[in-house]
Amino acid sequence: METTDPEFPPLPPGYEGRMPRHGEPPVLWPVGRDTSGREASLAPGAALAWEAMRERAAGDGAELLLVSAFRSVARQRTIVAGKLARGIAWADILAVSAYPGFSEHHSGRAVDLGAPGCEDLAEGFERTAQFAWLLSHAGRFGFALTYPGGNRFGIAYEPWHWCHAGGDGASPGARNPADGQQSL
Ligand SMILES: [Zn+2]
Repeated sequence: METTDPEFPPLPPGYEGRMPRHGEPPVLWPVGRDTSGREASLAPGAALAWEAMRERAAGDGAELLLVSAFRSVARQRTIVAGKLARGIAWADILAVSAYPGFSEHHSGRAVDLGAPGCEDLAEGFERTAQFAWLLSHAGRFGFALTYPGGNRFGIAYEPWHWCHAGGDGASPGARNPADGQQSL
């Protein structure tokens, strides 16, 4: 399958074997505005699970902010092209941004979360009460940390990025990979 974009540098060797491809969901549900004021949306199961999780976290005193939710393949392409245009090295771009078609955000199941007073998309998120709450409770809502340190995808540690397993949001069997971080 042809996956490369003629306007982008080639994919690094092994990228396609390491990074799963993600398609856009047939249906998206609105979940309010993100921290940039954009209308955010998620796939239905993830939307229900996110709203339940946000409410529970707030009840526990850990207000979760939605930094980013669904992102289209076209939007990802614009983001990556913008970084290239700013002269950022290809390897540095791919360490933090998925190649278009490979972002979990395309699936409508991934969320980037923030905490009041904490810089968005910064590693400092791991020192917030919100992150501690997520480690203890997100699995019950079907959310798991996709990019722990040393993850197999070769993506930089992203304590803010959580992905819903799919289904109706109950996912009683969902296990939080943060409980057993691999040192690969
Ligand atoms: Zn993310």
